[in-house]
Amino acid sequence: MGLEISRALGSHLYTRGGKRYLDFISGLCVANIGHTHPAVAKAVIRQVQDYLHVMVYGEYIQAPQVRLAAKLAGILPESLSVVYFTNSGTEANEGALKLAKKFTGRPRLISFEGSFHGDSHGSCSVTGRSIYRKPFQPLLPGVTFLPFDRIAPLSRITSSVAAVIIEPIQGEGGIRIASKGFLRQLRRRCSEVGALLIFDEVQSGFGRTGKLFAFEHFGVVPDVLTLAKAMGGGLPLGAFISRPDIMKTLSEDPPLSHVTTFGGNPVSCAAALATLGVILEENLADRAARIGALIQNRLKRVQRREGAIKAVRGRGLMIGLEFFDPVTSRRFVKSAFDRGLIVGWTLHSQTVVRIAPPLTLTDEELKEGMDTLETSIKRIGSGPGLG
Ligand code: PMP
Repeated sequence: MGLEISRALGSHLYTRGGKRYLDFISGLCVANIGHTHPAVAKAVIRQVQDYLHVMVYGEYIQAPQVRLAAKLAGILPESLSVVYFTNSGTEANEGALKLAKKFTGRPRLISFEGSFHGDSHGSCSVTGRSIYRKPFQPLLPGVTFLPFDRIAPLSRITSSVAAVIIEPIQGEGGIRIASKGFLRQLRRRCSEVGALLIFDEVQSGFGRTGKLFAFEHFGVVPDVLTLAKAMGGGLPLGAFISRPDIMKTLSEDPPLSHVTTFGGNPVSCAAALATLGVILEENLADRAARIGALIQNRLKRVQRREGAIKAVRGRGLMIGLEFFDPVTSRRFVKSAFDRGLIVGWTLHSQTVVRIAPPLTLTDEELKEGMDTLETSIKRIGSGPGLG
């Protein structure tokens, strides 16, 4: 849409031309605490004055990394206690997949249709939509895709499988929520055959779904958790996290089996510590649950009145608004944009529009956003769409 951004603050983007937009996509689930949060800016400035990069990750003790890893381990289940920092979500998934292959000594990987795990060769290999894999063949061998949220096909997970990677709530797949029964059965099956269960919470993590991490909705703890996006509060940072006995495999035979220069950059880690502080102190996961329910209820009321909406679903502030066809969903996005509200598509589902505002959205912004969503839905028919 060609916006030239001059400033981003809280829930708003400001353009050079002087227009203000309410951001209901959060830089794609990054700005969970809003844009350019003062606590993050302060932490970054302080760290920039001390040191930037000093050495390949893991060689020296750098306080922002150590403190952040300890803080993450403190809020996660006991088994998820060893953190490896990366620069992005795709690298977090790369690390998790390599970890599983090396730990189990097995060749196969299982993923799910409709998933998105990133765009490096490894994470693209387990991304569940063939048009995004096809141009880059050959990718990793031995990857099998199972239908999302169906229990019977889980029997195809056997003892030759190193890992099963899944988003408990698919983002790019169109905000599809796995059922509790399915995820519990998946957990059971992975434990039975000794395959590692990787939860990709790059998009759903850090309070977005109304819990600090989406796995908490399901009572299922993965063997490996991958994170990124909102983690750095606007700076690039990701992580894969697992048990000590599993993570140890990357430090031996050969030593330094998986290294990164910039992963866990101290400035990003300082920003992440400040971000996590805000999320926890302001109880933003609860806020996401509360205002997410308000948005969903409002949209469901609109759905009953307007014929254009097929479904409304989501958890917390990870909401999908599904239309009957892609032309209507594009018209809706354009209609909202023309009224100063930014919402976005999902990569694998052209009929689903994602609604994911910052968790810090004020009550006034919430009202303004919901009013604009409703008006934009009502006006869909009259706009030309984006073609
Ligand atoms: N996993 C999921 C679930 C994602 O939504 C994304 C990004 N949309 C990624 C991985 C890739 O993350 P990144 O862009 O930071 O590499």
